[in-house]
Amino acid sequence: MFKPLFAALLTLPVAIAAQAATLDSNQAQARDIFSHLIAFKTEIGQGQVPVMVKYLADQFRAAGFPESDIHIIPHGETAAMVVRYRGNGTGGKPIALMAHMDVVTAKPEDWQRDPFKLTEENGYFFGRGTEDIKSGVTVLAANFIRLKKEGFVPTRDLIIVYTGDEETTQDTMQDLVEHHRDLVDADFALNTDAGGGELSEAGKPLVYGLQTAEKAYASFELTTRNPGGHSSLPRPDNAIYELADALKKVQGYSFPVMWNDTTLASFKALGATTQGKVGEAMRAFAQDPHNTAAAEVLAAEPSEVGKTRTTCVATLLRGGHADNALPQSATATINCRIFPGVAVSTVQKTVQDLVGPKVEVNLVGKAISSDASPLRPDVLAAVTKAVHTIRPGVAITPEQESGATDGLYYRAAGIPTYGVSGLFMKNSDAFAHGLNERIPVKSFYNDLAYWHVLLTTVAGPSSAK
Ligand SMILES: [Zn+2]
Repeated sequence: MFKPLFAALLTLPVAIAAQAATLDSNQAQARDIFSHLIAFKTEIGQGQVPVMVKYLADQFRAAGFPESDIHIIPHGETAAMVVRYRGNGTGGKPIALMAHMDVVTAKPEDWQRDPFKLTEENGYFFGRGTEDIKSGVTVLAANFIRLKKEGFVPTRDLIIVYTGDEETTQDTMQDLVEHHRDLVDADFALNTDAGGGELSEAGKPLVYGLQTAEKAYASFELTTRNPGGHSSLPRPDNAIYELADALKKVQGYSFPVMWNDTTLASFKALGATTQGKVGEAMRAFAQDPHNTAAAEVLAAEPSEVGKTRTTCVATLLRGGHADNALPQSATATINCRIFPGVAVSTVQKTVQDLVGPKVEVNLVGKAISSDASPLRPDVLAAVTKAVHTIRPGVAITPEQESGATDGLYYRAAGIPTYGVSGLFMKNSDAFAHGLNERIPVKSFYNDLAYWHVLLTTVAGPSSAK
């Protein structure tokens, strides 16, 4: 009896030691924070963001951050959090560091594993938010704690800005820039929730994208109205036909070709590795964006069309009320992705001019647009250094995203914002928002190391002015 029990007791600590031996204390702490964060069900409607904020506040307190530098900003059922790491002021205005604490809703019954439990398996961390973006929340917190322990004094304040509803209304970020500007004001912002590296399917690093711009998102409803009547007595005007005519006009319209520094630099870099006529068009456009033939080739490519212009496309349709009645109204929704620097109202006017005065064009909800951030040499140099620490030699290229994150609001508030995640992923591993979200374990620890280099570079001794 005694011997087997003794053997069982012996194997357990050995197994734990074997795993721990591969992690240093900073990595082990980050992993612990990560597993706690994944367990908070921070979906919309669950009220768990404030609970997670409490946990995070405890970690910052324990690391020696004073109460006065840990700010919790409640917002309905969610919350934002701002943590300031005081610098000595020799490097200028603060730098903001962004991540969001909420996640897209996950239905556990559809997942292969519990989405709200961090599972390490086959070289991956599985769980809702592993990629988007509790890994980002974790690496920022873990590096603040580590830097404090190391006695690091930044040359300028570093401000963690955690938001609580990026995946839904993005209200907390708007509230912060509008009503708590003093807390979050910065020279520029570094966003964990955008940018990052791409791995080949064989695991080789291909390219790193530094996100400098995002397209704005706006939906418009087009509505036609008519007195209606009995369908046995058709009249020449008809709400459904008129809406169909309006939609054909939207379909046939192309917004003007546009570009910025990021467009040209990213086509130059992509063109170097893209084969065929698309690659040729990328190189030609990068050289001369007035080359209309090149612009047309890019516009015909679904993956590229959004990079050089605003796009609007029909996404929803409803109309009429009975199969034997003339329709009294018909409504279609068009979704627009707006090129950086173009006002939402300008797009609305273009659509209105296109469809004519008889069609109502209304903005759905609220929308905001922002300029592209200029590619700052100091940010580019620091990101390059940090990327090359974890992935030596990989090419760095600026990129414009077709989606929109909280970074949009920072940019719109006049603070240049850069998506600079340190995560490298294979295309086949990208399950953000979807089922069985995961990140490679190695990418997580690399991301952790990357942010240490990045923070000690942008706010280290050599950054003093
Ligand atoms: Zn995100």
